[in-house]
Amino acid sequence: MMLKQGLSNMNKNRLIDFHCHLDLFENYQDLITECETKGIRTLSVTTTPRAWKRNYELTKNTKYVRAALGLHPQLIQTDSSEELRLWDQYFHEAKYIGEVGIDAGPNFSQTLAEQQKVFKHILKSCAQAGDKILSVHSVRSASLVLDHIEDLLPQNRGSIVLHWFTGTLSEAKRAIKLGCYFSINTAMLRTKKGQQLVRLIPIERVLTETDGPFIEWNNRPSTPADVENAIALLAKIVNQTSESLSDAILLNLKALTKKSNTSP
Ligand code: MN
Repeated sequence: MMLKQGLSNMNKNRLIDFHCHLDLFENYQDLITECETKGIRTLSVTTTPRAWKRNYELTKNTKYVRAALGLHPQLIQTDSSEELRLWDQYFHEAKYIGEVGIDAGPNFSQTLAEQQKVFKHILKSCAQAGDKILSVHSVRSASLVLDHIEDLLPQNRGSIVLHWFTGTLSEAKRAIKLGCYFSINTAMLRTKKGQQLVRLIPIERVLTETDGPFIEWNNRPSTPADVENAIALLAKIVNQTSESLSDAILLNLKALTKKSNTSP
């Protein structure tokens, strides 16, 4: 498929990259400027609370870029009490939480108990606050992640966006029942399973993401502007035009943030 390079005019002020690691790019500040100029609503997720201060400073006055307070499951050590203490310290400043969750892949299974402890703590804190939006990682752990969400975060106390969901169709159905949103990226849309999954998800629960720099586009790390490629691929799969799909996704983000009394 031929896709345009760079952001087409049609997409100005309409794109959403709900999961991008802006702070892992050397030109972080330039990317923020680009998002602001092109009106790309971007969630700058972080992997450790040590990164919060800088991310928060750089985004607290931006119109389109928001920072999320994270503690990535792949970075969790056998004892993460120090990072969790820091996470707690910044929690009140953050409307968005992420990247958080569980990774049960072979390289991280030795910290699975500690990962769950951390995720449960995060969910409980969010339930107490009542208005957070979370970007959640669930590699090889969708059922476990959903179990904890069901136990600890009532639907009216917070919103879950499942990032790069790779669970089964029945796990996806369960997530939909639990009120979860899904942020969809180009890597998901290249697999048969991912395509089946996005056909199952109600369009009202769909957001888009790049997961840059971890997902590449044209052999370079994806940046928020590349989210238009996810839109184009997804539009084909769900038989919509890119225009109507990006309008629908923008409405989804507005509904999600309205529920949490924040601005998109
Ligand atoms: Mn990520």
